[in-house]
Amino acid sequence: MTTDNQPIDRVRAWVDESRRIVVLTGAGISTDSGIPDFRGPQGVWTRNPAAERLATIDNYLADPEIRRTAWQNRLHSPAWHARPNRGHEAIVALERRGLLHALVTQNIDELHQIAGNSPELVIEVHGTIRRAMCWSCGRRYPMHEILERVRAGEDDPACSDCGGILKSDTISFGQALVPQVIDRAMRVAAQADLLLAVGSTLQVFPAANVVPVAKEAGARVVIINAEATGMDDLADVLLTGAIGELLPAIVSDAT
Ligand code: NAD
Repeated sequence: MTTDNQPIDRVRAWVDESRRIVVLTGAGISTDSGIPDFRGPQGVWTRNPAAERLATIDNYLADPEIRRTAWQNRLHSPAWHARPNRGHEAIVALERRGLLHALVTQNIDELHQIAGNSPELVIEVHGTIRRAMCWSCGRRYPMHEILERVRAGEDDPACSDCGGILKSDTISFGQALVPQVIDRAMRVAAQADLLLAVGSTLQVFPAANVVPVAKEAGARVVIINAEATGMDDLADVLLTGAIGELLPAIVSDAT
């Protein structure tokens, strides 16, 4: 028992002495909120590899059938009813303790902001599903406005301004990231004294580069995930298990 808790105690002590903690989150932090990940054992792509096609920008732009399916998936996404869980709340606790330098998230569900993290600290490298965007003119819309149109019968709604293809304001596979956003993520990673990588396979680039960038700049690296990740060799401590238990345990004030 004592042996099992040693890594947790070590990381909790690191949290207490850190001043600029950067947290990188992936889909695994939101599974307890009812939003499936992509590559975990119950992941959307693990169960249905064909679903990956929907997330590729070239297919989305070329094929109206794929867009129609994507709009139905958005309409029925579990994200609209999801509530933050203990993992999200633990990161809010870190911010309240004044220790959170930045929260880089690959997630598109905005559960960090809903949980109470300051939007200024959250860097959404893959965008958000709560906005839609026009691929042609770049106009942004609140997602609920477009979903209202889908619900009313438009199965592949077009931009009201220019007639262009609409999609969620997220980064699809094959789509370039927003340079200012990913640059900011790498900048904060290089300023970290402790990096917590939570709920990610660390296989999606360039987001996963936050880990080596922080490591090279001298930060301690802790990876918290249920299974092995692509960057376990960079971790000073690996915490393998349930995020909802591990994250609250390491952020709780030891004093
Ligand atoms: P991923 O699907 O590649 O990996 C998630 C990892 O989290 C897996 O290794 C899984 O075993 C682990 N995990 C799941 N639930 C866990 C739990 N309760 N405790 C501990 N570990 C748990 O996720 P990724 O690395 O973020 O890559 C997927 C991409 O898809 C992201 O870039 C993201 O943009 C997008 N995505 C986002 C959401 C979301 O916003 N919630 C959901 C699915 C996918």
